[in-house]
Amino acid sequence: MQNCPACQRKLISHISPRCNWCGHEIQDAAYQEEAEARRQAHAIEQAQHDAQSRQWFQNTVDAYSPAGFGGLGVNVPMGTMRRTHADIQQEVHMRLAAEAAIAAATQARLAQEAAAQAEEKRRAEEREEAKAADDRFRHLEL
Ligand SMILES: [Zn+2]
Repeated sequence: MQNCPACQRKLISHISPRCNWCGHEIQDAAYQEEAEARRQAHAIEQAQHDAQSRQWFQNTVDAYSPAGFGGLGVNVPMGTMRRTHADIQQEVHMRLAAEAAIAAATQARLAQEAAAQAEEKRRAEEREEAKAADDRFRHLEL
């Protein structure tokens, strides 16, 4: 049966016991048998699809859960869709702060080294001066 006996329009899905157009119940055993079989096949397909979706979701959760929490510890990919502007902004601030801290530490180290060198130079000069003074008064010891 291809057309509705009531409205004569083409029966589309062959899954409903009724005409999709006018709602007339199709009084045809062969059609109803086919429709029932199609409904069952559709239900099975739907159930398989649901099961696959659930499995896919569970796999994803397992994979991204930290190791030790039943997961594989895979890093969650931080796509642009997952990241808010504030997140990125905060990360940039943190990185700039870290770079500033490193720069400050480097400057402090360089200043310390310069001070140590200056102190070393001053002591060398002191020694030199003391030696010169010794030389100046050496003749008096005679
Ligand atoms: Zn109809």
